[in-house]
Amino acid sequence: MFMDGADSTKWDVVIVGAGIVGLASAYHILSQDPACRVVVVEKGASAGQGDTAKSVAGVRNTFTSEVNRLLSETSIDFYRHLQADLGLDLHLEFVGYLWLLTSHLLEHFEPVIQQMSRGGVELKLWEGKQLSEMLSGARLVVDPSDKEAQVMGFSSVVKGLQGIKCGTVGPEKIVEFYEKKVREMRGVIRYGEKVKSIILEPHHKLGMSGEPFVWQDASVKGVVTDRAEIRAEQTVVAAGGWSTELLDTIGVDSHVRTKKRQVFAVKGPELDALLYSKGFNEQGVLPLTIVPPGLVYMKPNGSAGSFWVGVSDYLGRRFTFEEEPVAEDSFYTYNVNPILSRYFPCFVNVRPFNKWAGHYDMNTLDANPYVFEDSGLIVAVGASGSGVMKADAIGRIMAANQARKDFATLYGGKQFKVERLSVQARKVEPEQFVI
Ligand SMILES: Cc1cc2nc3c(=O)[nH]c(=O)nc-3n(C[C@H](O)[C@H](O)[C@H](O)COP(=O)(O)OP(=O)(O)OC[C@H]3O[C@@H](n4cnc5c(N)ncnc54)[C@H](O)[C@@H]3O)c2cc1C
Repeated sequence: MFMDGADSTKWDVVIVGAGIVGLASAYHILSQDPACRVVVVEKGASAGQGDTAKSVAGVRNTFTSEVNRLLSETSIDFYRHLQADLGLDLHLEFVGYLWLLTSHLLEHFEPVIQQMSRGGVELKLWEGKQLSEMLSGARLVVDPSDKEAQVMGFSSVVKGLQGIKCGTVGPEKIVEFYEKKVREMRGVIRYGEKVKSIILEPHHKLGMSGEPFVWQDASVKGVVTDRAEIRAEQTVVAAGGWSTELLDTIGVDSHVRTKKRQVFAVKGPELDALLYSKGFNEQGVLPLTIVPPGLVYMKPNGSAGSFWVGVSDYLGRRFTFEEEPVAEDSFYTYNVNPILSRYFPCFVNVRPFNKWAGHYDMNTLDANPYVFEDSGLIVAVGASGSGVMKADAIGRIMAANQARKDFATLYGGKQFKVERLSVQARKVEPEQFVI
């Protein structure tokens, strides 16, 4: 029985983190074994307030790694099922993703396009001329004598690549679903409780201080929070960007590094014609569009009349982790806005009315998630900026791992060999499409 301050319950599973991954994991663990005693511990006051709340909330199946594709495809199918069949409004809208391609990018993309098409990804190629007609006010052709454009590395957009089974979703709605179901299945979620450390103990305790000594077999037995010691058969770390800090304390490598990512919300009458571009989808809005160079993206929020814009900055930006990262106005002014304004002059005088920042937990090796087991601990990290769109599949793989099954059943019945996301027996292709 649990009472604040003293937890004498012998839990089967303690999960650190009530983000989308932690809650999807709890949901699938309980779905496969309703008798399992699961407790989720979250330092925030409510669910999904970590990087899940910072997400741009795009969903896409356009990945070059077959595993990433499978994880996102089946998760998107599950979210669609919840919305279409069970009537839950997850704000899932298939508005598409649109990559604007220069001839240089097109050359790089061609084999990738073929690879994705062979993998069954539905794609549509637009000619540059068509795009110029469809995108109101766009200036997609760059004059070769334009010195400034040359210095800044701009060249003409020659094609557009649209991913069809792509769009946007409300992560808070997905989190709400998992949270409700976990409670209905008698899972316990404790908010406002921070895990301070992971309990690592020898199998045969001697009662001496300094245990475990190196010659003792040891494994993880739970966690210590700022309120209680929580003992469990299995400990799951789904703490997103915070996982590294936690795992470091017991010498387990998270295999991820965190990078700050910033988002800026913009709106204004001058953007409306672009926002409500016709011809790409039945919603009559611009798809989530990625603009060269530098992978600046703009995500349409049709009903709010705004865009969220940001950029996937890699080289030259440090790996850092901050408890509360802050978006920088200067980053918008000198990095995001010049690119958008160049191709879409309607952005020239547009300033953000809101901004925020979070972290990507980057798997710098192959940009596929990890679900790995280490000494009584299971870790789910490394979503690399696409954890919302893969969370359901990651939760299922986590649950299969927890039940010591070799295969997880993804939504739609596909079987997935759990060890493919492990560290030791990893079997994934490096991802080329990280945004
Ligand atoms: C700017 C930005 C844009 C993004 N855009 C997209 C997108 O378009 N599509 C997409 O699919 N993904 C996107 N992502 C990535 C996505 O948000 C993440 O992959 C996903 O939210 C990760 O979920 P999580 O549950 O692992 O982490 P989180 O949501 O961060 O959850 C971890 C939880 O653990 C809790 N926690 C941490 N430490 C402790 C502790 N010691 N004790 C107790 N609790 C703890 C935290 O409070 C947090 O709630 C984006 C991310 C960012 C930052």
